[in-house]
Amino acid sequence: MIKIYDTTLRDGTQAEDISLLADDKVRIARRLDAFGIHYIEGGWPGSNPKDFSFFNKIREVELKFAKVTAFGSTRKLENRPEQDPNLLAIIESGVQVATIFGKSWDFHVIDALHITLDENLLVIEDSLACLKRHMEELFYDAEHFFDGFKQNREYALATLKAALKGGADTLILCDTNGGTLPDELTGIIEAVRRELGDEVTLGIHLHNDSETAVAGSLLAVRHGIRQVQGTINGFGERCGNANLTSIIPNLQVKMGYNVINPDNLCKLASLSRYVDEIANKRHNRHQPFVGRSAFAHKGGIHVSAVQKNPMTYEHIDPELVGNRRRVLVSDLSGRSNIIYKAKEYNLDLGTREQTEEILKKIKDLEEQGFQFEGAEASFELLVKKTTGRYRPIFKFLGFRVNVNKFRFDRPPLTEATVMIEVDGVIEHTASVGEGPVDALNKALRKALEKFYPDLRNVKLDDYKVRILSSDRGTSSITRVLIESKDEHGNKWGTVGVSTNIIEASWQALIDGIEYKYLHQDDNRDEICSCDPDDQ
Ligand SMILES: [Zn+2]
Repeated sequence: MIKIYDTTLRDGTQAEDISLLADDKVRIARRLDAFGIHYIEGGWPGSNPKDFSFFNKIREVELKFAKVTAFGSTRKLENRPEQDPNLLAIIESGVQVATIFGKSWDFHVIDALHITLDENLLVIEDSLACLKRHMEELFYDAEHFFDGFKQNREYALATLKAALKGGADTLILCDTNGGTLPDELTGIIEAVRRELGDEVTLGIHLHNDSETAVAGSLLAVRHGIRQVQGTINGFGERCGNANLTSIIPNLQVKMGYNVINPDNLCKLASLSRYVDEIANKRHNRHQPFVGRSAFAHKGGIHVSAVQKNPMTYEHIDPELVGNRRRVLVSDLSGRSNIIYKAKEYNLDLGTREQTEEILKKIKDLEEQGFQFEGAEASFELLVKKTTGRYRPIFKFLGFRVNVNKFRFDRPPLTEATVMIEVDGVIEHTASVGEGPVDALNKALRKALEKFYPDLRNVKLDDYKVRILSSDRGTSSITRVLIESKDEHGNKWGTVGVSTNIIEASWQALIDGIEYKYLHQDDNRDEICSCDPDDQ
């Protein structure tokens, strides 16, 4: 049985752009538990008050499956173990499982701890022995193990033996600098197993500085490792930790290990997006298994092949991990993409003539600079407009945007007014904004929210501007891509193109809003059916 040990909440938060509040950590822990992670490392209670607060909160939460662990260092030489503040904080955190890290590399013992090699062995052994009396399970993280082994093999092995004597249940071999390549890693794991015997349980903790943390973790399992540590989306210091969203499906789907309840594997993609969301990070669309583009097909030949047999260009069935196949509409492809796309969205392409018209329109629009990849909502609107199944949600009467600058040392003042008509009622609104697009967006929403109150739940998630023909200087063509998001986490992209950036933005904004209502009419549910309710 391979156990998964998640350290997103501890090592993951060492990443420079990630910071989680205690409540955020509790939400992520619940989600990891629902997914079926065996161990969730909550933090280092002895090192900061935020982690201590997490342990207080998580005690009140009933987890179904996972065990929460606390992390900490071995005692300081001058403290007796039962009086060492760091060890006491772990005991006080109330966990039943603890992970203690210690030094395996002789150079670190002498240069960083300033103690003798023998003193370090003693510190490892009695720190663990002290915790052993309070814990159901005890893990020892051998920091810098692989580098230490390469420099002084005998000493690195002696630290592991000291940990075993202290009562460690699992020894975790750490590549803290992330520089060890997989083949070297497996050689050292084999040497450790020969030395300690097969009855000793080993774990692995890799950092991704050589971009081989996933590969190394998988190989380590092949070489007898029984616990794999990592983080969701590979969060972590520098280049990150071993990415569990790749390790888990590889172990389960390809290597035949039963690491996660098979019914839960389809929650992987939503778990990955959820953690990004809470950490306020943009989801990496190219992330293997879980990214939005992980099963996206663009080239015409690929698309027609995938339609016949998905195995031609997909390494696994995307639904196994809760992802889905996407076919991109682009001028690289032909008729088959459009037809596939329409089928995917349950869109009627109408009569033969209407289908031809849609194809022609897309070609013309792409000539002008439109791009429908990432703007599937605009594509759907285009199809519905052409096949006569589009009903505008308002009548456009006009807009005006004013940018006034009165003083050299002050930012300009921007104001937009919008006039629309809904069911014979004319609405005329004005708003100021950070810039012309912001002001226009606010004025438009103000006008529409009167008729469509739940528009408040639709947020502009991303706004991208691209200049297409830079040789034309300031009269260049501008393409605007907007991503909108609703309260259910549904996202949709829209596009606008014009020589005028305000006009391009307006087109994309309008499509984004209209799509929400067109979408509601169809009652189409885009969320993965196995997506658990968010707590
Ligand atoms: Zn680490």
